[in-house]
Amino acid sequence: MSKPTNQKKAWSIADAEQLYRVKRWSNGYFDIGECGNLMVVPRYNEANLKINMREVIDEMQAKNIAFPAVIRFHDILRSQVELINKTFRSVIEDSDYEGKYFGVFPVKVNQMREVIEEIVDVGNRFNYGLEAGSKPELAAALAYNTNNDSLTILNGYKDEEYLRLALLGRKIGRKVVIVIEKFSELNMLVKLAKSMDVRPIIGLRIKMMVKGRGKWESSSGERAKFGLSIGEILTAISLCEQENLLDCVQLLHFHIGSQLTDIRAIKEAVQEAATVYTQLIKRGVPIQYVDVGGGLAVDYDGSQSTNDSSCNYDLSQYVADIVTGFKQNCDLQSVPHPHLVSESGRAITAHHSCVVTKVIGEINPGGTQFPTKKVTGEHIIVTNMRDIYQGLNDDNYQEAYNHIVPLKEQAIQAFKLGVLSLEEVAKTETLYWSTLNAIESITEHLNFIPEELKEIPELLSSQYLANFSVFQSAADSWAIEQVLPVVPISRLNEKPSKLCSLVDITCDSDGKIDKFIGDETVANNVPLHKLNKDEDYFIGLFLTGAYQDVMGDMHNLFGRLNEVHIVSYDDDPKDFYIEEVVKGSSMENVLSTMQYTPEIMAQSVKRAIDRKIQQGQIKPREGVDLIDFYEDCLRGYTYLK
Ligand SMILES: *Cc1c(COP(=O)(O)O)cnc(C)c1O
Repeated sequence: MSKPTNQKKAWSIADAEQLYRVKRWSNGYFDIGECGNLMVVPRYNEANLKINMREVIDEMQAKNIAFPAVIRFHDILRSQVELINKTFRSVIEDSDYEGKYFGVFPVKVNQMREVIEEIVDVGNRFNYGLEAGSKPELAAALAYNTNNDSLTILNGYKDEEYLRLALLGRKIGRKVVIVIEKFSELNMLVKLAKSMDVRPIIGLRIKMMVKGRGKWESSSGERAKFGLSIGEILTAISLCEQENLLDCVQLLHFHIGSQLTDIRAIKEAVQEAATVYTQLIKRGVPIQYVDVGGGLAVDYDGSQSTNDSSCNYDLSQYVADIVTGFKQNCDLQSVPHPHLVSESGRAITAHHSCVVTKVIGEINPGGTQFPTKKVTGEHIIVTNMRDIYQGLNDDNYQEAYNHIVPLKEQAIQAFKLGVLSLEEVAKTETLYWSTLNAIESITEHLNFIPEELKEIPELLSSQYLANFSVFQSAADSWAIEQVLPVVPISRLNEKPSKLCSLVDITCDSDGKIDKFIGDETVANNVPLHKLNKDEDYFIGLFLTGAYQDVMGDMHNLFGRLNEVHIVSYDDDPKDFYIEEVVKGSSMENVLSTMQYTPEIMAQSVKRAIDRKIQQGQIKPREGVDLIDFYEDCLRGYTYLK
């Protein structure tokens, strides 16, 4: 047998990048620093401005902000809004496109007021508006999108009140577009517009024939929930003509699904919508805008593929396909180029926020060690396993592995036959896992590892217990197996030698993350570092700014996370400051939403304590401390301290 070279392979930052693919999934907003810490590059056009995530965490700890916490980088949000607008503008200019771009942000993707405010603020100079899909979202859009030159696009099913609210927007001068999703909405709108004496702006949503690709492909096709068939579109137009509202039909809308993984679906959709548009123009319908909906995907796993959590295109390709698709079709039919609207949500917000939490424990396959001391008369299986473990060295590890695996099997059989005692089984467990661990320590630095030993890291993979709730912070990881990047914040200049999956602190066996960025497909484990005693190990869950931020629920009554908003500032020695801290839910908050009254709960516990004091079973001073403690807990954070 040729002896493997015992040369140690040094671990570099480049290795860490290859493993975690930080640059690829982050659009360049995150980077691994030479110091081994994760860095944030919050502005797309300032590569030298870098924030050290470890310093952000240190500052949060200094301010006593408890983890888990959401960290928002407002500069990333602003960068993304600028980028989509500038990309559309430059592609439009370069291709002599005659229409303009009027993007809108779909509120449902992240309804947080701070997020909406920031988007509206930076979007103002691009006349970038909002999209709402419900009455409360419309209420927010009316209050926050105050720019009369930007659009407010209204999707979703509508009742009379929704339409009245929309027409109120028209009365105060806003460009509110009511997109008809269902024919009956148009009948209602015609009546209301008359009675309120206001000219609405009407959009028609096409029920598309083309299928999106990916998880949300049912958003289009015959069975789609929303949109008008070609027949309904024609009927709608006749109705508007009759009611003298034809000039109000100004927008054509489609949306074939979120996270469109394959650019071909976008090309096909543009083709279909452009055909409808040019035909309607030729019939004299004065459509000015075509709204291509959302769907611009995020490459969560950095694979640039048609994986569900990835996409095979980038922003500029997406924009180019839309602009040139409409231009070519319109030129061919000699009709004017429409203004373009898009409703990208995921791609705008995903990168700007992440969840940072601490690993607070480890669940090993071997469990805790059981003493394996030799006793006279013990079973030969135990003796043999101990001999292998104790005799293990650099030269015989492969042989040791080949012996210990069948012995473990024999031990299980012997136990079932009642031949091994509980103590003896416990010893074989510990000896087996200790041997595997020892073999791994020998082989982990080797360049060459025999094929059969490559399964050892997988066998030894641990579950790292992290202080968070998947249901609150990573809903899509649980619901639709969305891959979200998991990366340690520090020690990236050190080889991560443990394969891990993550489990959360809920009492639910689904409360785990076991879908990670893999070499080709999705991996069940992610390499992380061995936990050091007395050293915090922080990990980040990234790309949580779209949907995850706002869709989480209170499973086990774990509530909303503490949140910090980071703003970069070149004049600060650390290039950032914490602009705002938003406190997460307290136990009182979450209990109240479930109809409990914390004061009554405290009184009830106090009465029980008082009784025990009267009975002499609790000292009065101790009783006061106990009730104080209970009340403190109610005011405290829902996560582990
Ligand atoms: C959800 C939704 C969007 C946002 O889609 P993203 O994929 O997040 O960009 C846009 N428009 C409509 C009509 C939607 O329902």
